[in-house]
Amino acid sequence: MNPRFGEKPNARTVIDKGVIVGVGMGDEMLSIDNLHVSVEDTEIIKGLSLKINIGEVHAIMGRNGSGKSTLASVVMGHPAYQITSGSIKFNGTPLEDLEVFERARAGMFLSFQYPSSIPGVQVGTFLRKSVAAVRGENAPSAREFRKELKGHMEALEMDKSFLSRYVNDGFSGGEKKRLEILQMLLLNPTLALLDETDSGLDIDALRVVSEGINSITPTAGCLLITHYQRLLEHVKPDYVHVMIDGKIVKTGGPELAIELESKGYDWLEA
Ligand code: ADP
Ligand code: MG
Repeated sequence: MNPRFGEKPNARTVIDKGVIVGVGMGDEMLSIDNLHVSVEDTEIIKGLSLKINIGEVHAIMGRNGSGKSTLASVVMGHPAYQITSGSIKFNGTPLEDLEVFERARAGMFLSFQYPSSIPGVQVGTFLRKSVAAVRGENAPSAREFRKELKGHMEALEMDKSFLSRYVNDGFSGGEKKRLEILQMLLLNPTLALLDETDSGLDIDALRVVSEGINSITPTAGCLLITHYQRLLEHVKPDYVHVMIDGKIVKTGGPELAIELESKGYDWLEA
């Protein structure tokens, strides 16, 4: 773990709707089985299975339009996407039973490929309220929150002045992605879905963002959606999956990402 990022609280146990959806080490956390997903009657995900355990980093690579963001959105519960068959379970609980906020409280986090700006809402307020909403009873005191925030911002090399700016309003691509990772560190998820978090980052930003991701992975599972092998030089994946046309067509280790970099995706197409 990177010493610049502070100690993490213990893995949480969250009880929602009477079901324990918290986690301990070694549990099977996310389990996706033969998933089919449509948006407005068009099938986008066409039979996808994937299991992610605590401590594992999975990378999903694939061309634009293959359904990667759709997968992340549907796991988090975006209402535009309909699961037509198959299942997603989180610590044994079928996800259709959980609202988006319950998924967040259970420890799931999604970093958007295209984060929205929220003019009028300051970053500091946004972060404080989201931590209170998601961590609930486990939320830190105001003093503790400020300390966590300061530590993470220093590690991410973010200036204090960020806190008074409006969320993502006029932010550069790199600033948006740093804010996503700052929010992730504060929310302390057990499952992080990171959608192209490396896009728009220069080398220095890529390094600090990667360190942030690495600081959570000992006690979290991570799904990294990326186009580029360069992120995977900093965040070592345990598994690399290739997604084509709504399905995982190949799974390998880190060497698969390097192979894709040189060979592209054509050789994997049926
Ligand atoms: P990727 O992230 O791999 O580039 P996406 O999941 O964003 O792919 O998109 C997969 C396909 O689904 C694309 O053809 C896209 O146009 C379509 N799609 C995704 N979300 C929506 C939506 N909300 N409405 C209509 N079409 C969508
Ligand atoms: Mg995408």
